[in-house]
Amino acid sequence: MRRGRSYHYQIIDELHKNGELTLRIAYNLFTQKPKDELADLSRWTGRVKPGQGDDYYRHNGAGENLVFSAADFEDFLEPRPELPVSMEQDLKPVVTLLALNRWPFRLHATYDESITRALNIYEEVNREVPLKGLHWFIDHAETISKRNMERVKALGGGIAVQHRMAFQGEYFRDRYGEAALKRTPPIAEMLGMGLPVGGGTDATRVASYNPFISLYWLVTGKTVGGLSMYPERNRLDRMDALRLWTVGSSWFSSEDGKKGAIVPGQLADLAVLSSDYFSIPEKEIKGLESVLTVVGGKAVYAAEEFAELSPPVPPVLPDWSPVAAYGGYAKPALAPASARSSVALAHNHKHVSADCGVAGGFGCLCWAF
Ligand SMILES: [Zn+2]
Repeated sequence: MRRGRSYHYQIIDELHKNGELTLRIAYNLFTQKPKDELADLSRWTGRVKPGQGDDYYRHNGAGENLVFSAADFEDFLEPRPELPVSMEQDLKPVVTLLALNRWPFRLHATYDESITRALNIYEEVNREVPLKGLHWFIDHAETISKRNMERVKALGGGIAVQHRMAFQGEYFRDRYGEAALKRTPPIAEMLGMGLPVGGGTDATRVASYNPFISLYWLVTGKTVGGLSMYPERNRLDRMDALRLWTVGSSWFSSEDGKKGAIVPGQLADLAVLSSDYFSIPEKEIKGLESVLTVVGGKAVYAAEEFAELSPPVPPVLPDWSPVAAYGGYAKPALAPASARSSVALAHNHKHVSADCGVAGGFGCLCWAF
């Protein structure tokens, strides 16, 4: 198993060395063994520095698992898990180590109760080793309170949101009710407070990796099953939703100002979409796809009228993958070329460190963000 998994990372290394990556990866190191987290991170902080690598493949700190005792599983069919009493004593030395080494860190936290306990520790550490300027952040934060958003802001942190509610909104409503559902997570409030907010997906185990389903969720506030979850005040207009996915997310890999906008001086990454994101009916946003993806000024994917720019497509691995038969995630009817729009690329792709999928019951071990 271990050999099989590390092989996957060798492939990424190899693609990077050969200049064949078709997306940029900022990876975080994810602790693997309960109670050995501090030992793992002590070793890793001696081996690699944040930002080490290049614009295609770079190290971005620790998380989203910092210690196993701080992880709250996001299955809304089940009651909220109470984190073990050992959580604080596990988390404090790890966060202290990261702060001393100036390693950015991210923490998986679904519920406000878990966030409260993590922030108690962050504030304690911050009094001894300032976190200022570290670009640390909370992942998910579906039920975060205003008070805890203020605490995140005071410590200079950010919040990375993903469209997990698009898939679990009905379960959440059944367990916690309509009122609680309305602010899961309270993205507009976060933005109103001036918090850094990044948009992503929590693929591949918790949600779809398709960015357009996440944009659809941000704009409509609906689940993929059609349940309308959020009032107008907690939905985003299309520009703000796109900003979360581009310039917003660039802060989370400390690459703000470097990517996320189509302007001189930033990385030359963009996608031409199958229809005009800004003018199509809302329900069609989730059916968008790229017809031309340019990374570093090079076409890495091209279809339809751009097909001649397409690099040769490698064989599908594993060969039983549905992609081999169906040609991709889904095939919506493409809009005419005149209706297309371009967007910059800047969402970060999370990357786990080694043993993907070993912790039973913890859903989001492997994902893109
Ligand atoms: Zn997570």
